[in-house]
Amino acid sequence: MTARLEFDQLQSSAEALRRSLSNRLMYGVGKDAVTAIPQDWLHAAALAVRDRLVQRWMVTTRRQYEQDVKRVYYLSMEFLIGRTFSNALLALGIYDQMKEALADVGVDMESILDLEPDAALGNGGLGRLAACFLDSMATLGIPGFGYGIRYDYGMFRQQIVDGEQVEAPDYWLRAGNPWEFPRPEVQYRVHFGGRTVRRDGHVEWLDTQHVNAMAYDTVIPGYATDATNTLRLWSARADEELDLSAFNQGDYQRAVESRNISENVSRLLYPDDSTVAGRELRLRQEYFFVCATMQDLIRRYLRTHSTLARFSDKVAVHLNDTHPVLAIPELIRLLVDVHRMSWDEAIGNIRRVFSYTNHTLMPEALETWDVELLGRLLPRHLQIIYDINAAFLDEASDKGAHELDMIRRMSLVDESGQRRVRMAHLAIVASHKVNGVSKLHSQLMQHDIFADFARLYPDRFTNVTNGITPRRWLGQSNPPLARLIDESIGTKWRTDLTELAGLRGLRGDASFEAAFRAAKRCNKVRLAQRAKLRSGMVFDPDALFDMQVKRIHEYKRQLLNVLHVIVRYNRIVADPQRDWVPRVVLFAGKAASAYRMAKTIIKLINDVAVKVNNDPVVGERLKVLFVPNYGVSIAEMMIPAADLSEQISTAGTEASGTGNMKLALNGALTIGTLDGANIEIGESVGQENIFIFGNTAEQVNALRAAGYRPRQIYEENAELRNALDQIRTGFFSPDDPARFSEIFYTLVDWGDHYLVLADFAEFVAAQEAVDRRFVDMPGWTASAIANVAGVGQFSSDRAIAEYARDIWNVKPIDMG
Ligand SMILES: *Cc1c(COP(=O)(O)O)cnc(C)c1O
Repeated sequence: MTARLEFDQLQSSAEALRRSLSNRLMYGVGKDAVTAIPQDWLHAAALAVRDRLVQRWMVTTRRQYEQDVKRVYYLSMEFLIGRTFSNALLALGIYDQMKEALADVGVDMESILDLEPDAALGNGGLGRLAACFLDSMATLGIPGFGYGIRYDYGMFRQQIVDGEQVEAPDYWLRAGNPWEFPRPEVQYRVHFGGRTVRRDGHVEWLDTQHVNAMAYDTVIPGYATDATNTLRLWSARADEELDLSAFNQGDYQRAVESRNISENVSRLLYPDDSTVAGRELRLRQEYFFVCATMQDLIRRYLRTHSTLARFSDKVAVHLNDTHPVLAIPELIRLLVDVHRMSWDEAIGNIRRVFSYTNHTLMPEALETWDVELLGRLLPRHLQIIYDINAAFLDEASDKGAHELDMIRRMSLVDESGQRRVRMAHLAIVASHKVNGVSKLHSQLMQHDIFADFARLYPDRFTNVTNGITPRRWLGQSNPPLARLIDESIGTKWRTDLTELAGLRGLRGDASFEAAFRAAKRCNKVRLAQRAKLRSGMVFDPDALFDMQVKRIHEYKRQLLNVLHVIVRYNRIVADPQRDWVPRVVLFAGKAASAYRMAKTIIKLINDVAVKVNNDPVVGERLKVLFVPNYGVSIAEMMIPAADLSEQISTAGTEASGTGNMKLALNGALTIGTLDGANIEIGESVGQENIFIFGNTAEQVNALRAAGYRPRQIYEENAELRNALDQIRTGFFSPDDPARFSEIFYTLVDWGDHYLVLADFAEFVAAQEAVDRRFVDMPGWTASAIANVAGVGQFSSDRAIAEYARDIWNVKPIDMG
């Protein structure tokens, strides 16, 4: 019999919060008002908020058990969450009350918000998508668990020193993490290495080494609902016994060292946004996390069910890209070798349970693992993969795939050269649904990289266009605009973003348009102040703020943007008296630490900035700024201040993009290619409110097939030639004239793989159209409003509702 507990029901008035603050500072942090530093107040405030989340968490968990719900497990190597404090206050509806409570004890809330470190357990879009999805699952009441790794070191901090990226470690846990609950009682063993022995029907995996995975839970609040979910992250813990033999031999140092080595598995996030070099530690990470997760979900299922018979009715597992694909052989291993299910029954379960999201069309970014490495680290899993492959190839041949070439292309094992397992193929074969992340991407996926599979399994492929959470990306990041929208059409947009369509009726309303412009200006002033503080640079808030903020990558084509900046600069110098539209061109983004070209691009941007910003002829007409350390919190500050959103990837390379959605939601107009979700954004906001340019995906293929010749474009376009020659001859790098010669040759002589030169002329023409629209301020404002009004469908709530209905087959819980 469970004891009946009595605890305080916490209220949300400022008075109740002030009392909680004092209690939490005293009993939670161990300080009083005299000794507390600002960090302590933040900690105490976070604990006071967390207490209120826990109340809801308990209610939700109880409801889930009572209703024996089907649960979704969202597996992702990355969760790019950012800060939690403001988000939780807004979800609970206690932002103003907390501000008042803190003011009562003499603390200015705005000033402590910046002390919270970003939880940067992700690289970019993929990790941020996972974070937006957690927010939406909770808000919609979908019983969903996020599962991932609690990296000690998140995404590196980027410093810019002499124009170059310098990486610093991000030990985000330094001041403790008030949002998580360590669960030392929830630990699973994760084995590596060893050998396998077959015994009637199942296999034993022997002579392994192991490390333990310990759970840390974070509450994920839904917005304006009692529903909450859990993000469970695994941290590696060495086994005490493991060290004992060395310890007993008196070798204390070796005992501690081996402990450190096995705990390395959750030490750091790989700072690479798509291709990770085939590092053994990365493979260990991937297995570590899915192994603990699969054990945990079986245990949770068996707590309320006596057999595994209805497992697939109650469990959906989603794979965010291929990084967690080892969950498939791991679940088979657990079902067959540990729970003694038959192979056929296990395979049937797998196909009902798993689904997979593909995030890239670039073949070089598709994950594969060396068979030798897999066999050494995970011998049982390699056997299972071979068995799945054999059954799959039989099935494919039954369905008419006899052609040897096709079999070779589809096999789970790439036999050309050093043998490698193709993780995407394993995911497709073992899942019941595979989705792309925008209409274009899903089409190309089925017609291009996975065409053979799409023919074999036509019903398996589908699309769910990405989305973003309006709570963080408008409500939290853009208070002036959020307030204006609340006053104009009410507050329902926060949970139904299509409500923003109501703003269309306000176009032409002069007072609304003026207020809309004022909100944008307020955000631009805020950003300009920050920039002045951090970089000393002064710029005019009435200039056009042109923003490209995202990972630095050749396919995203920051170089195309830089080329336009250089041409604009040359034009201004040649004719300074023309009526130039003043522009501030802002860049931000990190380069993977081993990606040399991306780092050179950062240096080029900064060298061009030095030249442009210090040329007295140019003055306010053009400014260039690279904002360091792009991450969620910097994004929240920059995006609301944008007038123009640069979404200029080579058509067919950006699977969806989500930065494009955030910027449009904040009233920026897009200049972009027909790539990823840009296409759908154009359809939604109206083609007259977006600047589309450049070759389509189809034209890109045709160009390449016909033999693309960038040097010819270079020779025929004098302005472009001049800009490229300036890059090559050290005009921007007089201290090291050859610094950027590799950029020149990549574009002009080595094939220009991303077709920068092919799209250049149209890009510059589109930029001229941008200028013309911007001087017509009423016209620009009307377009900006049309963007906000039209992006409702890009809410992650819509995306999650589609996943729940079409892929996971789960329903929201009844909160009573
Ligand atoms: C949204 C977001 C991204 C993704 O941006 P894209 O333009 O879609 O590549 C990357 N990093 C952060 C911090 C983000 O918030």
